[in-house]
Amino acid sequence: MDAATAAIVQAIELVAVTKRYASGAPPAVEAIDLRIPSRSYCCLLGPSGCGKSTTLRMIAGHESVTSGDILLENRNITRLPAAARGTAMMFQSFALFPHLSALDNVAFSLKVKGVPRAERHRRAAELLERVAMSAFAQRKPGELSGGQQQRVALARALITEPRVFLLDEPLSALDPFLRVQMRTELRRWQRELELTFIHVTHSQEEAMALADNIVVMNHGRVEQVGAPRDIYNAPATEFIARFLGGHNVIATAQGRVAVRSDHLRVGRDRFGAPGAPTLAATVTDIEYQGCYVLLGLLSQDAAGDRPLCAMLPEAEYLRHQYLPGEPVHLGWHAHQAHALAR
Ligand code: ADP
Ligand code: MG
Repeated sequence: MDAATAAIVQAIELVAVTKRYASGAPPAVEAIDLRIPSRSYCCLLGPSGCGKSTTLRMIAGHESVTSGDILLENRNITRLPAAARGTAMMFQSFALFPHLSALDNVAFSLKVKGVPRAERHRRAAELLERVAMSAFAQRKPGELSGGQQQRVALARALITEPRVFLLDEPLSALDPFLRVQMRTELRRWQRELELTFIHVTHSQEEAMALADNIVVMNHGRVEQVGAPRDIYNAPATEFIARFLGGHNVIATAQGRVAVRSDHLRVGRDRFGAPGAPTLAATVTDIEYQGCYVLLGLLSQDAAGDRPLCAMLPEAEYLRHQYLPGEPVHLGWHAHQAHALAR
């Protein structure tokens, strides 16, 4: 290992981690290798049942590992109890105790450890100050807004002085407006606290908005790891292109390619140089979305009938005013077609 590589501390490293809930059952998580750099925001993304929560719970120590190792800052924590690992977990809807004040919620884990009352209140008050909630220390969760509750939950988790913060779908029970507001706060706190966040979500939009690195999971395996832009512009597999949305998967003579909906060109005449990629299609539906218009299209590619989608800027749509049932030509620049591995 050279000096530059050695200097990058991995907050969490998974080495061939496998989880089987029952012997003989298919693994919920299969031979995952993963490195999550310190102070980064990592999102585990994938459809329901792909093994995201299992992975997070194994890191937290709430679930045993069938085989493999988990390291936290180069320390093997695979067999340590949850409380000794240096991780803290934030659950869906924050899971605050409704009958306790914000201060007592934050101080709770110190009470369990037998820390005297004055001392635990002093430390809890410090943390509430850190998340700008001092003025609300005596309020119960029911007397706080969603955003304020999230900050109390954050302070409650921080009191254990974690190195790595684990979040399992923390925003999915919130209404859409609050969800966007809360994710902005989460990102801000991650930067301010300089902690490593590992956030499980099934929402590609949430992962793209938050993450330095996205880990896309499918059937208990890691399909791709990368920055949001890299994954969006170069999805490794058809599964990822479809799961992210905003892509068309097209079968060509050279294999399957992904073409972003906003890169699919639509015209009444065939365009491009002879030999440039092109398909004939019929407009099936038109959805007005504000700054753009979604055209639903039915085409035929090398594999047969192929529903496609083109995203046109509003002004371009208004110039052409395509109608349902209308035949059109589709094209794309060769460099905007991304070859899929499978
Ligand atoms: P995700 O969080 O991505 O939705 P999970 O990690 O919860 O997925 O689940 C992965 C797989 O493991 C699923 O098939 C699920 O049914 C199974 N599973 C999860 N928890 C348990 C459990 N406690 N006992 C048995 N099977 C489980
Ligand atoms: Mg889950």
